[in-house]
Amino acid sequence: MRTRIGFVGLGIMGRGMAANLVKAGYELTVYNRTRAKAKELEALGARVSNTPADAAADADIVFTMLADPPAVKQAVLGTAGVIEGLKPGAILIDCSTVDPETSACVREAAEAKNALFLDAPVAGSKDAATKGELILMVGGDPETLERAKPVLDVISKKIIYAGPSGSGTMLKLCFNLVVSHMMAALSEALVLGTKAGLSPQTIIDTIMTGVIGSRFYEWKGSCILNRDFTTNFSLKLMHKDLSLIASAGYSLGTPLPVTAAVKELYAAAKGIGNPEEDFCAIVKALEQFAQVEVKRQ
Ligand code: NAP
Repeated sequence: MRTRIGFVGLGIMGRGMAANLVKAGYELTVYNRTRAKAKELEALGARVSNTPADAAADADIVFTMLADPPAVKQAVLGTAGVIEGLKPGAILIDCSTVDPETSACVREAAEAKNALFLDAPVAGSKDAATKGELILMVGGDPETLERAKPVLDVISKKIIYAGPSGSGTMLKLCFNLVVSHMMAALSEALVLGTKAGLSPQTIIDTIMTGVIGSRFYEWKGSCILNRDFTTNFSLKLMHKDLSLIASAGYSLGTPLPVTAAVKELYAAAKGIGNPEEDFCAIVKALEQFAQVEVKRQ
């Protein structure tokens, strides 16, 4: 019998992931709060449901790819949420970036329905989601992961087993701690260098020559120089992740002094700019402070 899949959350990431599952031949039922975003999936052959519970009913595997903890709590645990429809033995896989407390709530709710749960947040952005080349960070029972693996292979190029339930979520927070800092460091260097009269392209090229060179700096650096802030990953979601990281630091008694400063930079950028723009738009806040614009010369 064919594996039936439910998919909840067709945002920037979810729609590419769901499209790959339907293209791979799985019987797919999708749900998105804003129904218009499901049209593309419907055209590919997915069934569109009216509630998350309906998307989960009859599914062997249910994916959620939602913005933040409140979205997961509403669409999974709320009225007509995924849990209402989840059948015994099904696997619920949450790919959203949330906090370990939210992952634990969802796991408990799934287990109360005799279903299984994996936290499986992702690394890689819109392009990787479209190409089925995400990196998955998975927490949960290894046997559940083994069962889900053929489906996870469709959306990913690498699966990292992080440990028991909640570990995937925690690993993702550590990962985004680094990404948020890299973006902040690159932005500060470009603004400072530009103000001093350096060519910003020379700054990027110099970073790329040594051991610290990362394709990330080349990619985001060129977006900034081209003034292209088209959203791959929004400013508001990176600020959300930094808030989750700061809370995890508090819960675990782990001071995160650099993260605290970086978080406030994202808050400022979100406040004075457009929170829906790509997170590389934090450079605009620094530009405003320094009264200079970083652009291709
Ligand atoms: P997005 O484009 O903003 O999509 C968010 C999704 O959540 C949409 O489907 C949205 O529905 C839904 N949603 C929000 N609040 C909801 C609520 N209260 N009830 C039901 N649905 C709700 O975000 P994204 O970029 O795809 O990111 C999704 C997740 O992946 C986030 O946790 C993000 O941190 C993580 N992530 C993103 C990237 C990236 O590069 N974009 C990379 C790695 C991880 P509507 O369409 O109705 O608004």
